[in-house]
Amino acid sequence: MTPADPDLEGAFAQVAAWIGRYYRETRSYPVLSQTKPGDLVRALPSEAPVEGQAFERIFEDFQRLVIPGITHWNHPRFFAYFAISAAPIAVLAEALAAALDVNAMLWRTSPAATELEDVTLGWLRAMLGLPSTLHGIIYDTASIGGFTALAAARESLDLDIRARGMAGRGDLPALRVYITEHTHSHVEKGAIALGLGRENVVRVPVDDAFAMRPEALARAIDDDVAAGRRPMCAVATVGTTSTTSTDPVAAIRAVTRERSVWLHVDAAYGGPAAILPEFRWLLDGAHDADSIVVNPHKWMFVPVDLSVLFVRDPEQLRRTFSLVADFLETPETGVHNYMDYGLQLGRRFRALKFWFVLRAFGVRGMQERLRAHIALAQELASWIEAAPDWQVVAPHPLSVVCFRYVPGGIEDAKADALNTAIMDAVNATGEVYLSSTRLYGRVVLRIAIGNERTTRDDVALAWELLQREAFARLPLTAR
Ligand SMILES: *Cc1c(COP(=O)(O)O)cnc(C)c1O
Repeated sequence: MTPADPDLEGAFAQVAAWIGRYYRETRSYPVLSQTKPGDLVRALPSEAPVEGQAFERIFEDFQRLVIPGITHWNHPRFFAYFAISAAPIAVLAEALAAALDVNAMLWRTSPAATELEDVTLGWLRAMLGLPSTLHGIIYDTASIGGFTALAAARESLDLDIRARGMAGRGDLPALRVYITEHTHSHVEKGAIALGLGRENVVRVPVDDAFAMRPEALARAIDDDVAAGRRPMCAVATVGTTSTTSTDPVAAIRAVTRERSVWLHVDAAYGGPAAILPEFRWLLDGAHDADSIVVNPHKWMFVPVDLSVLFVRDPEQLRRTFSLVADFLETPETGVHNYMDYGLQLGRRFRALKFWFVLRAFGVRGMQERLRAHIALAQELASWIEAAPDWQVVAPHPLSVVCFRYVPGGIEDAKADALNTAIMDAVNATGEVYLSSTRLYGRVVLRIAIGNERTTRDDVALAWELLQREAFARLPLTAR
């Protein structure tokens, strides 16, 4: 098939029809892929075809071989990790972006890609109630946005690490990063990649609601300074990955400001809830953080990948990363050349899908969807709380509920195995998919609601299957 080929539009029409059907019939697919390791590798030849093949054959193999190996993240009964979804309107935008195939490394290599990024992130900033002093930039993931913020925090210490590096220097103190046991693992990975060392990632104690204790943070920082170590960055999370707990950002900001420590706010999942007036408080104190991450690809119906890093001082990113090769020099001034603000040179046109979604939903539509998810999670928590032998085990302010099945008098270790067995059995049905975590060392089941098309019936089915599998595992005498 070539651009001149009359079959081209026919192929597009076939794909469009397939996608339309997929959205109508998503529930007919097993959520968790039922394939075994190696199934797809064995089904495909070990070398690329020498002669080109027809679209029909490729598309048939996509449906016959690839689809069974898909775990359907876009399924309304995907409740694992953080549930996500691709709004259909964003799929259209992705098709258009792929067709344009722009590389927005410099403003001039597609002015609209850079400027649409500035416009949509300005909209997002206002929706979140963040001040216009923050500047947003799109990265692929929160992990990379967080790494970028850490690198800027390190450069802001004025230790000349950009020029001289860290190795072999007797004049460098240990650089310290403050997190909690509930902080997402990308922060520690970033510390590894930046040569800080895992032992310089400090776990600050949390309270009963799994939130960082600001006074413990203050003590940790002061102890480090007294011992000759250099505090570099504290990370506050709005919506942790295990339980969606939120660290007290304003109190943490007060501690870090007084001590001139960079504050990074990881609001990858929880941030979007601040679009709701009743959840504005989530970002209290974040308005003057040094950096904030929010993931539209998590709970704003934008397909993977699109993560936003807001920074107070975008010039700090340029001071950290900018290296302009001769062949990339351009005459424009007063424009953003986003290759200067991070590791990657090439950049996809990600803002297009976000712009489509924000326009198609409007602020109100976004608010309604988020509110509906939070309400579903609260209703699920009330069902679990009312059921004998089931416990809700963490606060659930947003759209995630953590719970555990503990039939009378069972030992902790046995309850762990039992909960894992129930989850595995429920997931094996293919009807729903949920995941687990650990709290206080014990296995805890977790239902995350976040798909645009999830209904009350979908959540009720998950709860019914959990109860069924739990009942099936009770000793006969106890039934
Ligand atoms: C999901 C999540 C991340 C990681 O997001 P990616 O975009 O996949 O890197 C980081 N932090 C928090 C709090 C998250 O919920």
